[in-house]
Amino acid sequence: MKILGVNEYNIDSCISIGIHVPSGKGDAWKDIIKIEDRELDSDTVDKIALIAPDATISIIRDYYIADKYKVRLDDHVVGLARCSNPNCITNKGEPVAPEFTVVSRKPTQLRCRYCDRILMNISDNLL
Ligand SMILES: [Zn+2]
Repeated sequence: MKILGVNEYNIDSCISIGIHVPSGKGDAWKDIIKIEDRELDSDTVDKIALIAPDATISIIRDYYIADKYKVRLDDHVVGLARCSNPNCITNKGEPVAPEFTVVSRKPTQLRCRYCDRILMNISDNLL
């Protein structure tokens, strides 16, 4: 919800949230966020991939699934999260975009290109 920029002050369309919903695949389950009248830009989709690498995005138009795809986490992440090291050059007001290399995917771990620090809490450091 934070990535999608939705909070109690700016809700202007119908939002449904389902937690622990049976997925129809055996005894698997999923969580769902459904927002009406909203298309996602690529930065938003990339941020979702950072914290939910198995997420699926479905675009529904006129009650039918118009598009459906899995998010994809690239090997390099640029400008989506800040480095957690306050002394990193990316946090010093220099014109340097934060850049990370994906060093693990389950769970997702990012290493700063500039100071080598592993970003511990990705969701709290999203830009
Ligand atoms: Zn850094």
